[in-house]
Amino acid sequence: SGKPLPYKRVLLKVSGEALMGDGAFGITPKVVEQVAADVADVAARGTEVCLVVGGGNIFRGVAAAAKGMDRAQGDYAGMLATVINALMLQNALEREGVETRVMTAIDMAEIAEPYIRRRAVRHMEKGRVVIFAAGTGNPFFTTDTAAALRANEMDCDALFKGTQVDGVYDSDPRTNPAAHRYSQLGYSEVLARNLKVMDAAAISLARENDLPIIVFDIRAPGSFGAVMAGQGAYTRISD
Ligand code: UDP
Repeated sequence: SGKPLPYKRVLLKVSGEALMGDGAFGITPKVVEQVAADVADVAARGTEVCLVVGGGNIFRGVAAAAKGMDRAQGDYAGMLATVINALMLQNALEREGVETRVMTAIDMAEIAEPYIRRRAVRHMEKGRVVIFAAGTGNPFFTTDTAAALRANEMDCDALFKGTQVDGVYDSDPRTNPAAHRYSQLGYSEVLARNLKVMDAAAISLARENDLPIIVFDIRAPGSFGAVMAGQGAYTRISD
């Protein structure tokens, strides 16, 4: 394995959309395998890793509500979608030889452990990768907020947000070739300029605990470890 990384414990947020790869829905196994390999590499280098996984590749409460579904009911379906992704990631990680635990914010004890903070900390201390599923367990929240919440609870050094873009831009780089990527941003700037990184609740939670957020492109193989070592493109959000 490679060199040790300058973080003791981190949380990686994997959006559901990132797991879709080039598809329009669901999961592309190759992408899940690549994310698992990247996590395995970082864990082998001695950094404790936990994950929060999204569900937008399968189900989103807001989208369902726009078509007439009750919002809270749709959000519960969305939280279940994150559990599907978590099981896929767990499977891929174990194939990489990484010991894992899935912990859900909504009890489903036949599938995964219930989320108990102190038990999660113990798992991490033992070098297990903990995958937090079912978001916060509450409708009207997002998995970004769950990521900031769990990162604070686990006392992580940083929250890595793995997306399909290599950072935060002043306009959409997919449509504007002149778009500029920020290398560093303050929490208040993100909120004031309404930059679409994470929702305001997540940014506020991170700011509350001085938790740096690093936004990077998770689709590039090896990017998680590289960005942790300060290489490649990313945006860092901190004060
Ligand atoms: N969700 C929720 N509460 C939470 C986290 C998620 O209700 O604490 C629901 C919500 O409907 C959301 C869906 O789960 O749309 C999937 O999560 P999210 O959209 O955050 O996933 P991502 O954008 O990361 O793929």
